Amino acid sequence: ARRVLSRLKDVPAVTRDGGRITLQANMELPNEVGAVLDSGAEGIGLLRSEFLYMNRDDVPSEDEQYAILKDVVERMGGRTVTVRTFDAGGDKLAPALGCTIGPNPSLGLRAIRLGLARQDLLEAQLAAILRASAHGPVRILIPMIATVGELRATREVMNRVIRRLRKAGVSLPDPLPRLGAMIEIPGAALSADSIAWHADFFAIGTNDLVQYTLAIDRSDEAVAHLYNPLHPAVLRLIQFTTQAAQRANIPVSVCGEMAGDPRYAPLLLGLGLRDLSMSTSNLPVVKNRIRSLDLAAAETLARTVMEQTDSGKIGQLLDGFQGH
Ligand code: PEP
Ligand code: MG
Repeated sequence: ARRVLSRLKDVPAVTRDGGRITLQANMELPNEVGAVLDSGAEGIGLLRSEFLYMNRDDVPSEDEQYAILKDVVERMGGRTVTVRTFDAGGDKLAPALGCTIGPNPSLGLRAIRLGLARQDLLEAQLAAILRASAHGPVRILIPMIATVGELRATREVMNRVIRRLRKAGVSLPDPLPRLGAMIEIPGAALSADSIAWHADFFAIGTNDLVQYTLAIDRSDEAVAHLYNPLHPAVLRLIQFTTQAAQRANIPVSVCGEMAGDPRYAPLLLGLGLRDLSMSTSNLPVVKNRIRSLDLAAAETLARTVMEQTDSGKIGQLLDGFQGH
């Protein structure tokens, strides 16, 4: 089976009825570029940049971040690299960023909240990413966006950095990198139609979206059995976000663990998603599943699923789905 899956590397992710799906990779460490390319991923849909700040007491300089990101971009050989700005806090602590463990880290000063509170840190990282974008296609992704205001404020910081770099004679690509929002907070999903006016793209983070929608700590074993991407509320948020992106004509992807599970692929495609990002080890099995199904059948499945009130029944529908 392994050999069959590895032969999938060079075939496209197309459905039986010709629907073209983009499969990209999630990445945590720069040394994973080889695995990303081996998996057949068309790009990096999520480069978690927390590694830059972990296991050290100081913050990485702009130049240090630039060198690492430039290397990743170059080794990806023209494929798009979506760099997410630091998502420290909550389950991802980085002492160098001065994250203190608040009373509830998942709801505390983390991710873009921390970036807007510590704009020196955000500016250094944005500058590094912008400079790396001169070496290949790069997108910039902002984690834990809750409001339109946060995205607008982030764009102002980015524009300030761009002016500073230009003044210093740094060459930047034309067009400049797109600025996108992670949709992983229920309030952001419910206002996705407004946020879409200010975002160049969306990436739906189902790991946190499930956590915050169902009030289930994603790292707490005691409630792990209650963690459920098939809860109708989660599916409605994914559907609303996807439709909001389509109406605003911006790209939308899913980059949470849900995207890497072949069981969910028909449903996500049926809901209108055409771009999935996942860990490289899951990519071949998801591609295999996609190649076995019809988009038309997946859309019918999604319509039936969205009429259900019970996640158990939804699971049965997915397990019984033939694909065509
Ligand atoms: C998510 O929340 O779904 C996501 C992709 O980001 P992370 O797992 O890094 O929080
Ligand atoms: Mg997240």
